[in-house]
Amino acid sequence: MSKKVFLCAISNISSGHCLEDCRFCTQSVRYGAAIERFYHKPVEKIVKEAIAAKKRSAVGFCLVTAGKSLDEKTLKFVCKAAEAVKKSVPELNIIACNGTATLESLKILKSCGVDSYNHNLETSESFYPRICTTHKWSERYKTCENVKKAGLNLCTGGIFGLGESKKERVSLFESIASLEPVSVPINFYHPNESLPLKNDTLSAKEALEIIRMAREMLPKQRIMVAGGREITFGDLDYKIFDAGADAIVIGGYLTTSGNDPMRDHRMIHKAGYEVAIECHDS
Ligand code: SF4
Repeated sequence: MSKKVFLCAISNISSGHCLEDCRFCTQSVRYGAAIERFYHKPVEKIVKEAIAAKKRSAVGFCLVTAGKSLDEKTLKFVCKAAEAVKKSVPELNIIACNGTATLESLKILKSCGVDSYNHNLETSESFYPRICTTHKWSERYKTCENVKKAGLNLCTGGIFGLGESKKERVSLFESIASLEPVSVPINFYHPNESLPLKNDTLSAKEALEIIRMAREMLPKQRIMVAGGREITFGDLDYKIFDAGADAIVIGGYLTTSGNDPMRDHRMIHKAGYEVAIECHDS
């Protein structure tokens, strides 16, 4: 039986107004990147995107808001969006990704139909102060612990190509392993001229090594290649599955576009894999 690949789609439901200073992120207001900025995407539009994602065989649908944390207003908005998506497309696993969060607010999200919460550790604890000075890595870790306590599935991963060393990558994966998440998103830095981080894109070879490292250190987790796949791998992206990835994001990211989803379907089949039809397929 061929290995299954899980597809996840992202909806950027509140974009580009974050006050934090993560040096890799175009959603920070500090860097003035030329991206679309808006507060609340209309719920009808979010539902339409969820229906389209399901048609493209996505099993996960992620509601992402920019900003440091899940404050009261954001919580209300995400709940409204999650309830509407659940009602229209009940088969989708709803993931919320809304920054640092308290146990209480995460429990409310769960009661509104959210199944999973994504909060990335981003990089190792020791390297983190080099990429963000406005909040601490420990707050991120604490949020991940809260996610599990709230009974939500945890998705936590990171971004690579920020200038971190191999040792720091190992340390990040060790921290992720200690949280025992269900899924681990792996993002690769996508350079943008407005960002203070001037690093080049990682080579496909180095990026594949990172995926292999993730697979080895996180044998039971779903390894999802997310942002930066297209710019890092180009047409070599079929290689990510043999390296250990078993999930990808389809149809575009928060502020960058992705491949045509049909091209990704063809790529998966050509590589000898099958698209999973349910989130809990094994
Ligand atoms: S907290 Fe999140 S949205 Fe804000 S700058 Fe950092 S990565 Fe971007």
